[in-house]
Amino acid sequence: MDKVILIRIGEIYLKGKNRCFFENLLVRNIKEKLAGIDCKLFFGRNRYTVSDYNQSEEDKIVALLKTVFGINSLSCGYKIKSDYDEIFKLVKKIIPQSGSFRVSANRADKSFPLDSMKLSRELGRDLLDTFGNLTVDLHNPDFVVYIDIRENGFTYIFNEKIAGAGGMPVGSAGRGLLLLSGGIDSPVAGYMMAKRGLSLSALHFHSYPYTSENAQEKVKELAKIMQNYCGKINLIFAPFTKIQEAIHKNCDNNYLITIMRRFMMLIAEKTAKRFYCDCIVNGESLGQVASQTVQSITVTNSMIKDLPIMRPLIGMDKQEIFEISTKIGTYETSILPYEDCCTVFLPKNPVTKPQIERCEFEEKKIENYDELVEEVLNNLEIIEIG
Ligand code: ATP
Ligand code: MG
Repeated sequence: MDKVILIRIGEIYLKGKNRCFFENLLVRNIKEKLAGIDCKLFFGRNRYTVSDYNQSEEDKIVALLKTVFGINSLSCGYKIKSDYDEIFKLVKKIIPQSGSFRVSANRADKSFPLDSMKLSRELGRDLLDTFGNLTVDLHNPDFVVYIDIRENGFTYIFNEKIAGAGGMPVGSAGRGLLLLSGGIDSPVAGYMMAKRGLSLSALHFHSYPYTSENAQEKVKELAKIMQNYCGKINLIFAPFTKIQEAIHKNCDNNYLITIMRRFMMLIAEKTAKRFYCDCIVNGESLGQVASQTVQSITVTNSMIKDLPIMRPLIGMDKQEIFEISTKIGTYETSILPYEDCCTVFLPKNPVTKPQIERCEFEEKKIENYDELVEEVLNNLEIIEIG
């Protein structure tokens, strides 16, 4: 009778011929996650297990596995030989001797003599005969006995399913360049795309010395927290001060944010290509602020030529974003009050329905436009987080 943590894979099981590719990535990510822990890993079809670990580390292992995308659920339980008497003996040991229960059996191994229904019924009856204070409640029991009979001759027994992070293994969908501000939204956007299998690089524009070193530390801290779920993140800092000063000096004040965002998009695509990213990710949510109206998104989107932009928060309310940010642990850092480059030069009346021709007209006033962009690209600073 071995104690095990059972890992169930998520959407991968729907895959056909390329299933192996996804499984290999998930296996790699699980191994990396548990690298510092003394345990044995077993990777079977549809079920993986962790065994031979120190019991005092069980909670820690579960907590680590809960951050791995591609895992649907987890259970802490026991592994025994697929044999009715063995199963009964073990269940007698773990079931509370009073209260209500239900047996939920799953027989993947069709050579086991009892099918799922018969096994549930027989075991239920034997338990009732053994413990006079037990009752069966199929709908709302105090205790569920799960019996999972696998093809490899072993059975897993447990009483709880713990939700995993879901999604697809990080790395299975390629690489995205996340536009990471110090705010609440962009870390959540990165988390959501990592959940769909993207590895992340992150690009942060800073306007040092208008923005402080603390603001950059805050972004590093956010990337560190995100890395729990998203794996290693290449964090790229882009010096944006000269561009902001040029916009401030030359362009209509109300177009300040719009033009700034257009520059960001232009630089983001060039950076994405340089760092082998397949798409750009940002934290825009429709209508949240003036720069996130359909018209604003149109004029910023038009700066991107080849790559898709993923906006996973586009249809979400701030409250929903808060909740995810709290769950993944970025919220407390995001709300630290350090200025972002977007807050350095704020227009009095930011335009909400910018026109593309007007943006281009304003941008023509910046004589050294191309050199400014080149200068940023030549001075990117890269830090590996994780
Ligand atoms: P966030 O919480 O992500 O800062 P926000 O509500 O403050 O979002 P905006 O400031 O309008 O929204 O920014 C929209 C998106 O643009 C951000 O989610 C982020 O992806 C990107 N962005 C904004 N500022 C920066 C920056 N300094 N560096 C990199 N990306 C940025
Ligand atoms: Mg912001």
